[in-house]
Amino acid sequence: MAFPRSFNSFAKNRVATLAPFFIALTLSLTVSAFALPEHAGAEITLVNSNPTHPVGRLILLRAEIARHDDLYFRHNASDISDEAYDSLKRELTQLEQTGPQSGTSGPTESTTASLGNDHTEGFASVAHRQPMLSLKKAYTESDLRAFIHRVEQSTGRHELSWVIEPKFDGIAVSLTYENGRLLRALTRGDGKQGDDVTKNVLTLPTLPRTLPQGSPKLVELRGEVFINDADFARLNAQREEAGEPLFAHPRNLAAGTLKTLDSREVAKRHLSIVFYGLGAWEGIPAKPASQQALHALIKAWNLPAVDTITMAQTADEVCGAVIRLGRQRTALGFPTDGAVIKINDTNLQQQLGASAEAPRWAIAYKFQPGRVSTRLRAITLQVGRTGIITPVAELDPVEIGGTTIGRASLYNAEAITRRDLRIGDWVFLEKAGEIIPRVTGVDISHRSPTAVPFIFPQTCPACAAQLVRNEGEAITRCPQRDCLGQLRRRIEHYVSPEVACIKGIGPALIASLVAGQRLKTVADLYRLRRDELMNTGNVSEVNAQQLLAQIEQSKNTSLPRLIYGLSIPGVGRTAAAEWAGRFVDLPHWAEATREELSKRDSVAADAVILFFGRPENRTLIDDLVMLGVHPKNGNHPGKIGKLTNITVVLTGTLHSWTRAEAKQQIEAAGGHVADSVSRHTDLVVAGEGAGSKLAEAQSLGIEVLNENELRKRLRY
Ligand SMILES: [Zn+2]
Repeated sequence: MAFPRSFNSFAKNRVATLAPFFIALTLSLTVSAFALPEHAGAEITLVNSNPTHPVGRLILLRAEIARHDDLYFRHNASDISDEAYDSLKRELTQLEQTGPQSGTSGPTESTTASLGNDHTEGFASVAHRQPMLSLKKAYTESDLRAFIHRVEQSTGRHELSWVIEPKFDGIAVSLTYENGRLLRALTRGDGKQGDDVTKNVLTLPTLPRTLPQGSPKLVELRGEVFINDADFARLNAQREEAGEPLFAHPRNLAAGTLKTLDSREVAKRHLSIVFYGLGAWEGIPAKPASQQALHALIKAWNLPAVDTITMAQTADEVCGAVIRLGRQRTALGFPTDGAVIKINDTNLQQQLGASAEAPRWAIAYKFQPGRVSTRLRAITLQVGRTGIITPVAELDPVEIGGTTIGRASLYNAEAITRRDLRIGDWVFLEKAGEIIPRVTGVDISHRSPTAVPFIFPQTCPACAAQLVRNEGEAITRCPQRDCLGQLRRRIEHYVSPEVACIKGIGPALIASLVAGQRLKTVADLYRLRRDELMNTGNVSEVNAQQLLAQIEQSKNTSLPRLIYGLSIPGVGRTAAAEWAGRFVDLPHWAEATREELSKRDSVAADAVILFFGRPENRTLIDDLVMLGVHPKNGNHPGKIGKLTNITVVLTGTLHSWTRAEAKQQIEAAGGHVADSVSRHTDLVVAGEGAGSKLAEAQSLGIEVLNENELRKRLRY
């Protein structure tokens, strides 16, 4: 493949050694947003306009549920919590069972008996061999005990064998393997036929396309496509860099990604898949005799399997296992919103059978969401390094999911008006996907008459410049590049481990040096004198000396890091890495034409052209070069072999070198060798039998080389 792969080490792109087709895809640039229509649902029209009348309520409920289904399934968005949605459905079921039947309410079939429909335009609809049912849900321990009791009653047995699995919070899929080959992948759709997402599913790096010999003639494997916590965090970090709004929920992201028409986009998002169920099974050998045996078979077929499974026999044991899982859920590494409890024995499953909607031998227990309410004290504005203004909720500190939260991002002005947030309100705070705390709504019943609407300021809190919000854009920006708020953030970014890695200079020192006009650009870091640090920054002589040494050392920063460190709006790490693979040094890159830059990402290219349209930014480059910050592209053709400032982790057994020799080689090329994989790792060299470090590197998106590739990199 004819592209420079060297910049991978910086871009922390996906595992190069696993799937060659995949690298080509991941090298393209920043993750672009998929647009969610702001108001995707149909308007509700009431046939009977009195919503308190049972018939009116029934119609209203059906329309409301249909609207949420549409939002959720077709637009991968949601403006209601799962609990609220499920309570609408429960109410509808109850009304349909007990209430009057309306002769004028249009379709008479029950909404709750249908499974919703995730069909999306642009995807072919294909029938499932066996219907893909959803699960009944339990919200309380007594719901769960009642279910177990019912199963015990109908089987006449008390000590049943139960399997408890975590409930993955993603999008359900069904994969058909015929004669051992992956034939197609479908979403649930309406349960009878689903959308053909084979092309997108094929981009999943952990999914084998074939089953080993001895698999049945045809098998439908049911599972879930989801995004794990590390990838979710990585994608949001990239979006933050590129100045794009963050993804709020991993499930919506997984669902939206799987329904993206451009498979290259899907590959970049790095979705995961797991299998836990069966649909059709044709031919020999016989179907697994239990759920446990199915899990073992999934593993034996090298398919991603559920790792955290508990067995239980009594209702007490089941409840105990579910509670334990609930406690562990934030540490599992993937998003989960509950537990699935299944009868282990396949014969017993068949005997219990299924209703039109759900099997009678399994139930999903939904965890209480990590939701608390607290008072919104104030909304402040945070100025980002590229000028993006983020409103932040200042809250009465409250504990949620084990951490104390006092602030939460409100993303943008739109999010505040949409929720009608007022200062002094009691707001609900949730941990979206168990990671980022998020204000999800207002407790209107607690609204005090003194609560005041928030008026989004017109001016930047740091420089008082008029804020800019382009039509149709959610983002508000401070347009003043020399805004001191932005400058502080840019310098904080520049000294961070991701860029120049200058230790001993934190936000407070940066703030005082900026205020004292000692730092006007990042280049001024290289002009700092010891007496300035001691006088303006109030730093001790020893610390000043050490800091200056660190600053001096940072001149070795690599080209991609430096480009990324310039904080150009719309330019993230990926774009920087791509350019660094093609341009020999900083001035060559800075003088490149739009055409030369836009090979892969025209948006980022435009951003650079705009950036250098301002003379002071050209001066910045000249200053950096003059001050000795002049990284050459070590990996540029002709200069292959340098690992300057690259942190490498070795794992597994190498054949031609001992560990010590490999370490020596890497250090001779300017790299560091670290013992454990972290987000500061640039490169992992995996020898034979590489284990958890390799897995960790993969989950963090760190480039992995094998021994030969390392030798090549070192110019052997
Ligand atoms: Zn400003």
